Amino acid sequence: MKDNVLQQDPIAAIATPLGIGALAIVRMSGQGVLAIAEKVFRKAGSNEDCALSDSPGYRAHFGRLYDGDRLVDEVVLLLFRSPASFTAEDMVEITCHGGPVVVKAVLKLLLDNGCRLAEPGEFTRRAFLNGRIDLTQAEAIGEMIHARSESAYRTAANQMKGALAHKLDALRSRLIESRALLELELDFGEEDVEFQSRDELRARVDELRREVSELVDSYQHGRLMSEGVATVIIGRPNAGKSTLLNALLEEERAIVSHMPGTTRDYIEECFIYHNTMFRLTDTAGLRDAVEEIEHEGIRRSYEKIAEADLILYLMDISEDDFMEEVATIKDIRDEYAGTELLVVANKSDGAPDADQRMQKVGEESGCRVLGISALRQEGLDKLKDEMARLTEGLDKLHEASVLVTSMRHYEALRNAEDALHNARELINTEADTELIAFELRSALDYVGEITGRVINEEVLNTIFDRFCIGK
Ligand code: GDP
Repeated sequence: MKDNVLQQDPIAAIATPLGIGALAIVRMSGQGVLAIAEKVFRKAGSNEDCALSDSPGYRAHFGRLYDGDRLVDEVVLLLFRSPASFTAEDMVEITCHGGPVVVKAVLKLLLDNGCRLAEPGEFTRRAFLNGRIDLTQAEAIGEMIHARSESAYRTAANQMKGALAHKLDALRSRLIESRALLELELDFGEEDVEFQSRDELRARVDELRREVSELVDSYQHGRLMSEGVATVIIGRPNAGKSTLLNALLEEERAIVSHMPGTTRDYIEECFIYHNTMFRLTDTAGLRDAVEEIEHEGIRRSYEKIAEADLILYLMDISEDDFMEEVATIKDIRDEYAGTELLVVANKSDGAPDADQRMQKVGEESGCRVLGISALRQEGLDKLKDEMARLTEGLDKLHEASVLVTSMRHYEALRNAEDALHNARELINTEADTELIAFELRSALDYVGEITGRVINEEVLNTIFDRFCIGK
């Protein structure tokens, strides 16, 4: 933590969701919040205003809040003294009764007595500015709050603990060291001294690049852990896409979360199976002759396919012309070669020779084919097992190593990787020290941006604006 805590103007906000509950928390942070609490709080069994300013930190006080003579609520005040608080400023948490009207009255009392309503994420922003947490930890708090699956939550918790930050700080120190030696050479200018041999430097840059690349590569897995596996169900109209979607969601009804899609062309819903979250999209049907009116929907479908981690191609195996779909399957396989594709042969209940048919499709298309009956809910466990295979081993991987889960971190690391690549090329071509130093400086800046060692106001705004007020 920084030695000098900056205590900014006092802010207040409701920290718990507005609704009916046993208790709720309203909190304050900043210069003079103890004095504000003192003005409105009377300790139980006393008619005197309470001298909270003399109280030590980490102390709870039971009593009542008053607006003049009017009782507002019976509360517990929890005091934190700078720097031992979340924001590192003086803080007061007021636990009051959990009704929306009560909570708002408590907040209003604080605002009337000198607090300003906090901006979204302002508490966390102050924690960052006072060096209590770095940016990756601040973001992890946001991700943990929004986590919709166990794996997303655990990945965020790991990041909040500072695993990523430590790794990046260690990388940074080594980059600084290499660069400092190069800058020394520059200072000596004409004298043609080398403080580290070019071979040494090359080895260092290679090692750093390898570590950065590992982090970049972990993004694919990290994203699956935190956002879930983006899965699209495609196929001709009437193949049974909606029936399958409903069957998958119905079985997991207890843990289904609804996320209405942004357009009516597709719906997106989530279910969790074996700790992995799947985000399922049922797209508008694919067909060759497209009527104008459907065009937009189908274009969006293709966009969804491009973004997917897993494509479920659903076909009606009971149709006589089932082999005609092989061409489409092959097209999709080639078009989206980097994406996992699973062919699902639906309506196997409607074709006595379904097994032979599936085998034929498998042989012709070169894809794995799985038979189900969405209507009778047969074969769904096998299908889900197969879907989960995608993320198999991710849990173990993630326990052992640091995963990059955020697009922002990923992009910065990609840039750092490029800069290190350039540095390597420059060393090989015996380029000027100045040019090599420049590339190392860029790599350093990119890594520093992730943890917030290099502060970029715009980045800060986008991060903290996503928080809710009170966080
Ligand atoms: P979509 O257009 O691909 O979304 O297809 P739907 O889910 O609307 O299904 C089209 C029709 O096929 C409906 O009448 C379903 O009841 C029927 N259907 C879906 N799955 C099966 C299945 O496994 N077996 C049989 N026999 N009919 C099915």
